[in-house]
Amino acid sequence: MRRFRLLRRKKGIHLSVILTAVVLLSIAFTAALNTIVGYQAQKDSLSRTTLELNRITANELSVAVDTIFGSMTQSLQMASAHFSANDMRDRDASSWLDFMRGSMSFFNSIALVDEHGKVKAISPDNGDLVGQVLTSVSVQQALRERQPLVSEPYVAVTKRLIVLVTYPIFDEQATYRGFVSGSIYLDEGNVVQTILGTQEANMNGSYYYVVDNRGNIIYHPDKSRIGENVAENKAVAEIMQGKGGQMATTNTRGLNVLAGYAVVPSVKWGIVSQTPASNVTDSVKGIVLRMALISAPFVAVIALLVIWASHRLTYPLRKLAGYASLLNNGETAEVPVQTRHLLYEANELNRAVIDAFRMMGDRTEALSLEAHTDALTGLRNRRFLDSILASWDRQHIPYAVVLMDLDRFKIVNDTYGHLKGDEVLRFLAARLHEEKRDCDYACRYGGEEFILLLPYGDKELAYLLAESLRIRMADEDAPIGRPVTLSLGIAAYPQDGESAAEVIHGADEALYRAKEGGRNRTMLHDRERGCREDEIG
Ligand code: GH3
Ligand code: MG
Ligand code: MG
Repeated sequence: MRRFRLLRRKKGIHLSVILTAVVLLSIAFTAALNTIVGYQAQKDSLSRTTLELNRITANELSVAVDTIFGSMTQSLQMASAHFSANDMRDRDASSWLDFMRGSMSFFNSIALVDEHGKVKAISPDNGDLVGQVLTSVSVQQALRERQPLVSEPYVAVTKRLIVLVTYPIFDEQATYRGFVSGSIYLDEGNVVQTILGTQEANMNGSYYYVVDNRGNIIYHPDKSRIGENVAENKAVAEIMQGKGGQMATTNTRGLNVLAGYAVVPSVKWGIVSQTPASNVTDSVKGIVLRMALISAPFVAVIALLVIWASHRLTYPLRKLAGYASLLNNGETAEVPVQTRHLLYEANELNRAVIDAFRMMGDRTEALSLEAHTDALTGLRNRRFLDSILASWDRQHIPYAVVLMDLDRFKIVNDTYGHLKGDEVLRFLAARLHEEKRDCDYACRYGGEEFILLLPYGDKELAYLLAESLRIRMADEDAPIGRPVTLSLGIAAYPQDGESAAEVIHGADEALYRAKEGGRNRTMLHDRERGCREDEIG
């Protein structure tokens, strides 16, 4: 691990990786931000819509319930008018009530009660209530108040949970004669259920319920909750104060809900339409997930494009880095090719590196020329001679050499001075340069000794060249005002030696013989016969 870290620190992270990482991170960050903001916005909007829908639902239902109660009161008023005008016998009253209940179907049961609370007639008649005196609170209230009433839910003598709607009866002398009542059985099929419908599980989990003005549940899709008091519920508390509206609240069971609520004016009941908040969050999560799934392929394509583009963009830099490291390793790198990249900086860098490479190439060439050139004569020097002969040796390239030495040069120096001597050396170098072929190399071998290398040349050619040079030197006046002659020795590879050293040694021997033979002459080396003078021409 530690080693790995060291390695990484040394090598660094690839630019393309950094670029890709930065762009992918920004994509991820943007996507995350979009998701969060989208989620919040969707949730807010859906919550608002849900609240509004619940408020509208509660309002509509309250209008419906209000209308029903209006009709109920009207029908009881009608019955009351009927009974005040007709002093009915019990039997007639009972069939009238039957007719009324059957034609209106508002009530589960209808009763005619006298001013003492005694049941005079009832529909449907089970035979056990007629003649009984009712004592329930709501009956007492109706007898006391003598006006149209809607009771709180209560458990009647029949053990049913009921709401009693009463209408007083006054005879023509305005004497109170009792009341007609309609009962709604809350825990059985009743008119409220008919109006509000049996609530199917709604798509977003919404449902509604009805409370009376004390917060008792009168209607609820969960029948077991009918009769429960939920006055603590904030929406119900508002209803009890006669207000309608909408709110996000926690219901009595601890569930967060979005509630719309409205008051039924005629009976002061309230209707609450509500949606569990978790249903809204769930559907928003669903929407956001769908959005994420839809955008996933696009994000993937963008990510791939980013990886490709960062690779493309960094390619020229990597290539240049490659060139530079070649240089660093001391390898001779070719000048990079000028290519056009998309990236401005890459083009600039490319141009700069090419310039640098050219300059370095020129400098290297100049330096190597300088290192291989003799300062006095401008000819190649001994270092060059050694390296090129070694190379020819390796490749077994045939060649001939002409080794030459100025005759009695010490005297020239002694007589005319060293500077004049130098001029003579340059004079010879110029002639040598003129006489040689373009492919030959003229080198200064030592003080006043020179050598001519003839690649693929034989001794015959070498001899012709040597003689031409010798004769020219013998004929032309050197800078000292008279000719300075030279002696020459010739040898060739592979005839006269198996290596450059042997060949040069051979040429040296030939030169020695030329000196011995009286100077101003050319001698050829011959392995078998020692040296010989020009037998060629
Ligand atoms: P020989 O015919 O036997 O060659 O006689 P030589 O006088 O030329 O004898 P040798 O070759 O031994 O003498 C070489 C002389 O060349 C000695 C030295 O003063 C002179 N010399 C060597 N290098 C230079 C140089 O760069 N410039 C000048 N001016 N003279 C040099
Ligand atoms: Mg010499
Ligand atoms: Mg000499």
